[in-house]
Amino acid sequence: MSEVNIHEKLGLRQVINVSGTMTGLGASIAVPEVAKAMAEILPQFVEINDLQRAASKVIARLTGAETGFITASCSAGITLAVAGAMTGNNLALIERLPDTTGLKDEVIVQMGHIVSYGAPVDQAIKLAGAKPVMIGQATTAYDFHLEGAINEKTAAAIYVVSHHVVNYGLLDLKRFAQICHAKNIPVIVDAASEYDLRGFLEAGADVVLYSGHKFLGGPTSGIVAGKKELVRAAFLQNLGIGRGMKVGKESIYGAIAALEAWEVRDHAAIRNREKNILAYWQEELSGLPGVKTIIEPDPTHNPLDRLRINITPEETHITAWDLVDALGKGTPPVIARDHEVEHQYFYLDPCNLHAKQEVIVAQRLKEELAKARTSNEIIATPLAERSKSRFDALQNWPD
Ligand SMILES: *Cc1c(COP(=O)(O)O)cnc(C)c1O
Repeated sequence: MSEVNIHEKLGLRQVINVSGTMTGLGASIAVPEVAKAMAEILPQFVEINDLQRAASKVIARLTGAETGFITASCSAGITLAVAGAMTGNNLALIERLPDTTGLKDEVIVQMGHIVSYGAPVDQAIKLAGAKPVMIGQATTAYDFHLEGAINEKTAAAIYVVSHHVVNYGLLDLKRFAQICHAKNIPVIVDAASEYDLRGFLEAGADVVLYSGHKFLGGPTSGIVAGKKELVRAAFLQNLGIGRGMKVGKESIYGAIAALEAWEVRDHAAIRNREKNILAYWQEELSGLPGVKTIIEPDPTHNPLDRLRINITPEETHITAWDLVDALGKGTPPVIARDHEVEHQYFYLDPCNLHAKQEVIVAQRLKEELAKARTSNEIIATPLAERSKSRFDALQNWPD
């Protein structure tokens, strides 16, 4: 099929993604409705602000928000929402950003929410010209931290929902929003990867941001939804700092198609398929020396489980990260979810697989485990070397 041709034509590796929706792998499998919609609109002219009006209606229907629009990414959404909270609909101020002289320009975030989703959260705030004000400590935040940080310079507060953030010891969204609202501070929620399209607004978000290209299976895009004035102010940034984050007609229409497809998707069938894949992997790996598996629910309660594979290197003769790397270098490359791999475990994520790929994943894992067993020594690359070689490769791009 065309997929194969693209890889052959450009000399790209055809990876199997058991890592999750990763920008570096091409995010997710766009649903057919999205591909069709994008192809349909590409040759046509449309008035973009009217197309965004249509998007607003669909976003409102699915999220319960008053208003919404499509931007380049969730990360762009953070920058635009922050910018809007500072400028309102004042076009002169919008053109003046990132110069924030005289404006409220502080944006509060809990320290435990300052993570990297591929780029740092606080950088997306700073990009608008705002100053992130971090409250609490990595694993603690109390009412007094938030109350004490709010002052006459506070423009907004940001709340990040993610498996990346510290998921204990911090303020929950309801409390966070209560405290902010008592002082008229708008709350912007980064819910990039969350399946729940309504719950964050219900819990007190004034603006909520989603990625179009993650669970929704849409084009690379971001969804901004919430109170009309704040969303409008974010939208107007397209005349200013938002220009470099612009989306075309195809992404706006593609994101609309993704939302509409989500509305009628057979979520139960998808969940069932994923559960069957996890059970199959667990069965295939059962009884292998040094390998223990457990099915784990998603840490932010998305309706999604993953298989955690615990490795005992003394028995497998290979560390978890060397195993992950061997899978990634193999034929075909299998890319596993490895962000906690220093603890000798990694995950297989079932939500981005094409038909039957789960069989190849199990085969490749068993092959690499069998190969490692024949090694006399434990294959154990020092972790520092592993990350260095990754960054070295990156810094040599495009060579
Ligand atoms: C993926 C992610 C982002 C970035 O989303 P993009 O749409 O790719 O910019 C931001 N925040 C969180 C929590 C994410 O998971």
